[in-house]
Amino acid sequence: MPLAPDSLGPTVTVGEILVEIVATTVGEGFRTAQPLMGPYPSGAPAIFIDQCGRMGGRAAMVGAVGDDDFGRVNLDRLKADGVDVSAVAVDADWPTGSAFVRYRADGSRDFVYNIATSAAARFGWTAPVEALMARAGHLHVMGSALSMAPAVEVIERAVEVVKGRGGSLSLDPNIRKELELDAATEARFAGLVDRADLLLPSGEELERAAGVSGEAEAVARLFARGVGEIALKRGADGASVFLPDGTRRDAAAPMVEEVDPTGAGDCFGGAYVTARRLGMGLEEALGYGCAAGARNVTVRGPMEGAGSRAELDAFLAEVCRR
Ligand code: ATP
Ligand code: MG
Repeated sequence: MPLAPDSLGPTVTVGEILVEIVATTVGEGFRTAQPLMGPYPSGAPAIFIDQCGRMGGRAAMVGAVGDDDFGRVNLDRLKADGVDVSAVAVDADWPTGSAFVRYRADGSRDFVYNIATSAAARFGWTAPVEALMARAGHLHVMGSALSMAPAVEVIERAVEVVKGRGGSLSLDPNIRKELELDAATEARFAGLVDRADLLLPSGEELERAAGVSGEAEAVARLFARGVGEIALKRGADGASVFLPDGTRRDAAAPMVEEVDPTGAGDCFGGAYVTARRLGMGLEEALGYGCAAGARNVTVRGPMEGAGSRAELDAFLAEVCRR
């Protein structure tokens, strides 16, 4: 089944909203005073939905921030980019979530997180959430949200409501291959894979979601389970999209200088889902997904490089000219 059209209602996602504070030098962790930049609005679901809004699709978010400037940084950005935040709670007692990030020379990262013990994890199925889901056209789930109890509660109810009114479901597994999930989370994840109209894995997440090795085998297994469409992200090697009827399209990644890789996958997803919901074909949607991912890595900050449709067109024209 193709994704439900934008006219059915907004794309909605659920999960953590954070600020990110980024070390501007490469090195090991945070045990010495050092130059930092931020706060930048962040959180994988927030990056995804911001890119949906920028791309010109209807978009809305469920989550929570604190009643502080870190929360306002996020709400202001989401609103400015066209995201409906009526179902984002503002928690009077808990601070907005945060993540400090520093890149090491080998590209790996050190983090100091405050997510589970922040407002980011303090939301649930409230009246505004119920009202939003009753008019939603599409639900996008980040696999990483399945380890947050409040997100699980909202997602499980939302899947029924949104699918029940003819809406569609996409899933970005966003779970690294090494990560061991507890049995209940693993079962929930598998249940979402089975119901996904679109799966957006990155690299080895494809095989992890399928439970078999080999790209072709994994794709076949996922379609046998009922997945409707697979968009596979390959980092600097671009992306591919597969349909159950054997259709396949590949796109090379635009050649760019990578300044900050965080958020590429989320921007790819936001642009791709929105493009499909606005009625674009596989090639055009893949082009926008790749452009959104590539553009975002050229700018420091997790969602600073999310592009409007016009900006993505200009970016592609510029990259092709080089
Ligand atoms: P994340 O690190 O945000 O979790 P991801 O692993 O889900 O990302 P990636 O495959 O890293 O997803 O990136 C998504 C898309 O963005 C890629 O398929 C590609 O089109 C584009 N992209 C990512 N990195 C680069 C790069 N260095 N150069 C050009 N395009 C890139
Ligand atoms: Mg990812």
